[in-house]
Amino acid sequence: MRIIVAPDPVLRQSCEPVAPAELKSLRGKARQMAKLMYKSNGCGIAAPQVGLLKRLMVVDVSTAEEGEEPPQDPVYFVNPEVVRSWGEPEQADEGCLSIPGIQIPIQRPTGIEVTALDLQGEPFSIEAEGFMARAIQHELDHLDGTTMFEHLDPIARARTFREYEQALRQGAKPGDTGVEDRA
Ligand SMILES: [Zn+2]
Repeated sequence: MRIIVAPDPVLRQSCEPVAPAELKSLRGKARQMAKLMYKSNGCGIAAPQVGLLKRLMVVDVSTAEEGEEPPQDPVYFVNPEVVRSWGEPEQADEGCLSIPGIQIPIQRPTGIEVTALDLQGEPFSIEAEGFMARAIQHELDHLDGTTMFEHLDPIARARTFREYEQALRQGAKPGDTGVEDRA
């Protein structure tokens, strides 16, 4: 399993819901995704980023105490659905494991409520604000084939894509953004 980087067309595909019968066989893949995320110092990863067109994603925004390894506390979302979102949209720089080497300012609502199944198929719901809300929304975008580039207007998109190509030429790899908020 490896991280697929833009502009691979797989990142623009919409993902299929996970059928109940598939869940068991996807658990191992979900854990591998989380491992890859931790290895790349990411705080989220979605199935299409590893070439799997399923509605499955992992988020972990745990932060480390000074001088300690961050605790691993992944939240797995199977077939996530947005229930509601709230708050004046705020802009902040985001990174993406599939768009290494750059950050892109994205506007998002500050709060979100999502329902999903866990890896055992149990339903849960989560209300998130702040960075967790942003990370969840970033991963949800991936399930609909939306990358950070699609949030930009055409001019900004073209300019940012040139910056990205430059970063790739300079050898940027998944996990390279220079900041901690990668998803
Ligand atoms: Zn991403």
